[in-house]
Amino acid sequence: MKSDIRVCSAWRGRHDRPVYSLSQTCPECGAPTENSAPAPYNPDDTYGEYRRARKRRAVEESQATHDSQATEE
Ligand SMILES: [Zn+2]
Repeated sequence: MKSDIRVCSAWRGRHDRPVYSLSQTCPECGAPTENSAPAPYNPDDTYGEYRRARKRRAVEESQATHDSQATEE
């Protein structure tokens, strides 16, 4: 589903949190807004990749535990 919600392009330097708007400019600082949909891949989002990797490991560990319990029966 396509979203028309936009976010202040300068919020990181001007606001404590993302400022969302449906207009072409930020209602708080007047900076241009940009589409709030996340990019498919952000090379700067290293922490995001780290989080995803940790989540994958957690899922694998829970599955491994389940498998070992099943094998013991
Ligand atoms: Zn702003």
